[in-house]
Amino acid sequence: MAEADIRPTNFIRQIIDKDIEQGTHNLIQTRFPPEPNGYLHIGHAKSICLNFGIATDYKGQCNLRFDDTNPEKEDIDYVNAIQQDVTWLGFKWNGDVRYSSNYFDQLYTFAVELINKGLAYVDFSNQETMREMRGTLKSPGQNSPYRDTSVAENLALFEKMKAGEFKEGECLLRAKIDMGSPFMCMRDPALYRVRFANHHQTGDKWCIYPMYDFTHCISDAIEGVTHSLCTLEFQDNRRLYDWVISNITIDSEPHQYEFSRLNLEYTVLSKRKLIQLVEENHVTGWDDPRMPTISGLRRRGYTPASIKEFCQRIGVTKMDNMVEMSMLEACLREELNADANRAMAVLEPLKIVLENFDGADEVLSAPNHPTDETKGSRSIPFTKEIYIEKEDFKEQANKKFKRLVLGKEVRLRNAYVIKAERVEKDSNGEITTIFCSYDKETLGKDPSDGRKVKGVIHWVSATQGKPAEIRLYDRLFNVPNPAAEEDFTACINADSFVIKKGMVEPSLAAAEVNCPIQFERTGYFCKDKDSSNDNLVFNRTVGLRDTWANSAK
Ligand code: ATP
Ligand code: MG
Repeated sequence: MAEADIRPTNFIRQIIDKDIEQGTHNLIQTRFPPEPNGYLHIGHAKSICLNFGIATDYKGQCNLRFDDTNPEKEDIDYVNAIQQDVTWLGFKWNGDVRYSSNYFDQLYTFAVELINKGLAYVDFSNQETMREMRGTLKSPGQNSPYRDTSVAENLALFEKMKAGEFKEGECLLRAKIDMGSPFMCMRDPALYRVRFANHHQTGDKWCIYPMYDFTHCISDAIEGVTHSLCTLEFQDNRRLYDWVISNITIDSEPHQYEFSRLNLEYTVLSKRKLIQLVEENHVTGWDDPRMPTISGLRRRGYTPASIKEFCQRIGVTKMDNMVEMSMLEACLREELNADANRAMAVLEPLKIVLENFDGADEVLSAPNHPTDETKGSRSIPFTKEIYIEKEDFKEQANKKFKRLVLGKEVRLRNAYVIKAERVEKDSNGEITTIFCSYDKETLGKDPSDGRKVKGVIHWVSATQGKPAEIRLYDRLFNVPNPAAEEDFTACINADSFVIKKGMVEPSLAAAEVNCPIQFERTGYFCKDKDSSNDNLVFNRTVGLRDTWANSAK
């Protein structure tokens, strides 16, 4: 079966199928239009997968267009980071990166066309008056006294706006539509405002900037976008989108379709809130591994494939909903279980001395994957002193505890069976060392006398292993919907970032940054960009099992 045949459909793909069937469109053109005022998050990934996915499957094109009409809030760093993220996800945009600001000259000409048609006017009412005259959802607005200014005068005034003769906030260019419309966005919306701001693309060329609603539809039309896909909050604005397109002279008729935003539990997906987390230092930056940003997820150890699989599974509808974090994690876990190499690391080391180990260190071989032999094997040093996980030892325990118990045996993963003979404690009664013996006949085989050893634990050589900082992350917020709280920063999970001083097997020193590895029995991890030869740092990407189901309730 062709790949396209098994891809789940959605209402937008059904619309496109129909458009193709009826010959409305032959070539499908979409676009992903981020505003460069922050980093991309997992919600944007939904939109990216939708737009680029459609372009790929219908053999069309998807443009990357920066929707850059708010120079004060935008930055070239965001422009660069967004391109990096889209590329990392594995998508290729059509031709050069585009900017709405590429079209500022054309947008200006279209605004003049609307003025000439008596469909736009310059309004000098102050903000307060304008707000009052807009009316409310229940009552109609009132016409502005500037609505009847002549075309000639409006042309001259708009020209002056462009020439910098009016102050910021002194006037606006407004569309002349309908102050009685039930849709607030149709009550003579602003088209242009005065801003004396330096723009990251156009510098100081402009001191008037077009509004989103005016810019977006025209940019779509200029680029020949056939299906302009956006989130539901723009549903009403579709009237304005269509009004602008039908009142200017352009040979293209893009259509806007709305789908629901992605909301994810225990995090926030609004750039404004994410900026706040960064600026108020609640996180270490946009790429803090707890952030729902693409760069945060990448640093955490998420793969492009897992994010795309997640976007596939959540689907595209018009229904608002809240997706569980466990769904995102499941996509990753399934991939990594099949793909990630295995290694051993101890998060809370407890020392073992093998009293009957004498002679030189041994080199053992361990498979990199339990079922995929093509992944090969690696060497692990076996030495007189090793570390095991503190929680894997008890002086006394019942049979359910299938790890190391005083006087009993356990198997060391990829190595021998050991027996705990005695412990040494410090003055606080804390165990500092376990003295063990090991059975030299048990490498890769059961004890010959029929002794049954059930438990298997992981370990690292104490003398040849490498110390490592291991960063454990948890959900960033304590409540499923932090955006609904009065102050969302008040419900940040104080335990969302914990550092462990662990030990890792020596092969991990050469691990690649961000490349997923399963630390056996512990979870999936990846080396962090903060890592150096002297200071290895690993991030826990996700645990081996879903811990949300029980703990979240
Ligand atoms: P935010 O609210 O996070 O600031 P935005 O909509 O202002 O998001 P844009 O840069 O304008 O951010 O978004 C680019 C595209 O991504 C838009 O088409 C927008 O509809 C879409 N998008 C943004 N957030 C989400 C989300 N949570 N789920 C799906 N699509 C989204
Ligand atoms: Mg936006």
